[in-house]
Amino acid sequence: MHNSSFVSHLEGAIDGAALTPRIVHTTHKHRPILVRYDLDAVNLALNPRMLRDRPQTMWRYRELLPIDDDDAIVSLGETVTPLIHCPCLGARLGAPNLYIKDESRLPTGSFKSRGMAVAVSMAKQLGLTALAAPSAGNAGGALAAYAARANIPCFLFMPALTPAVNRAEALLHGANVFLVDGLINDCGRLVRDAADALGWFDMSTLKEPYRIEGKKTMGLELAEQLHWNLPDAILYPTGGGTGLIAMAKAFNELERLRWLTSPTRPRFYACQSSTCKPIVNAFLNGDRFAKPPDNPHTIAAGLCVPSAIGDFLILDAIRQSRGKALAAQESRIPEWMALASRTEGLSLCPESAVCVGALQLALASGDIRPDDRIVIFNTAAAQKYIETIPADIPVIDHNAPLDWPSLVNKST
Ligand SMILES: *Cc1c(COP(=O)(O)O)cnc(C)c1O
Repeated sequence: MHNSSFVSHLEGAIDGAALTPRIVHTTHKHRPILVRYDLDAVNLALNPRMLRDRPQTMWRYRELLPIDDDDAIVSLGETVTPLIHCPCLGARLGAPNLYIKDESRLPTGSFKSRGMAVAVSMAKQLGLTALAAPSAGNAGGALAAYAARANIPCFLFMPALTPAVNRAEALLHGANVFLVDGLINDCGRLVRDAADALGWFDMSTLKEPYRIEGKKTMGLELAEQLHWNLPDAILYPTGGGTGLIAMAKAFNELERLRWLTSPTRPRFYACQSSTCKPIVNAFLNGDRFAKPPDNPHTIAAGLCVPSAIGDFLILDAIRQSRGKALAAQESRIPEWMALASRTEGLSLCPESAVCVGALQLALASGDIRPDDRIVIFNTAAAQKYIETIPADIPVIDHNAPLDWPSLVNKST
């Protein structure tokens, strides 16, 4: 195989150990592995001006992705997602410079496709023959779709409470799906056991090096869309934390490439629900590692991650950026979903609704100022969570005489 990527080596995130690239890796000391590039060589091969002529997909950052063999790329058309100014929602919250980066436009309706596009491409390049993952939400559907596209068998273990659409889409794409009477961590253990017993490859969050590289394109895109002038604050719905870790990595690489024009780096606000907030607890305690909370639950399925193996990377990224970890009240998630959906017409998922609540808290405490440039990531489409969307619709008896004024009052 020719080495066409700029990968220099891999690195154990916990101790910085250099690891051999271009062979199959899982974790190092049970912690995540990061991909490192020869960024001087990238700088010779690519500059921001050259990006102008490239297609509007995540593959425009090819030089900062780990795939060596172009033929291994598994793609469903991962479009650059729009960064949408939200003046009406911003006015309601007291933040006129509020933007939402709408990741719901990606294949399978969530940002999980960025990670899976690169991870499945690498799986194909490395010759893996069966992929497995635990998923409480969108990761399962995305893995199922990309595995189908790559023609690699896919096995998913989902908590019984996984949203119906996520279960259905995984089946639709031909995955072998198992429901587990437990949480994501219980599913994770089953995947580990099955992987050992049957030789499947474990695609769990941060248990292979490449999903993070795909998610990194969120940060690269955001930077390019803002002409390399990063915003003041980023609010990110944090479960396993891949997206936040990946964005911090993207900004580090862009800084080393000297492409950024902003004098300071954005403050990261990791947003969690009040009923599952291990990262918030660890942040407030000053801990480097998080502890699983008691009885974790939330309708924001992607945030129901009691223990994340990248916890220290999330907490490092928040602290280095001088941001915070914030918990918003679980019971108000539907209200925030509706607020964004009504004021701006966007299809905001419950996970990102948590960010709207967290933004209210940060504005009230003065952590985020009204004139800050603020970006919320909408990580998935609200339609994937039909269970959480109220659908009380008045029914009309079309044969009966209608009292129009009272009917209209009922519907509003
Ligand atoms: C998975 C998921 C998250 C959490 O993602 P991480 O980057 O792993 O923290 C947030 N929102 C949605 C919709 C998700 O599917």
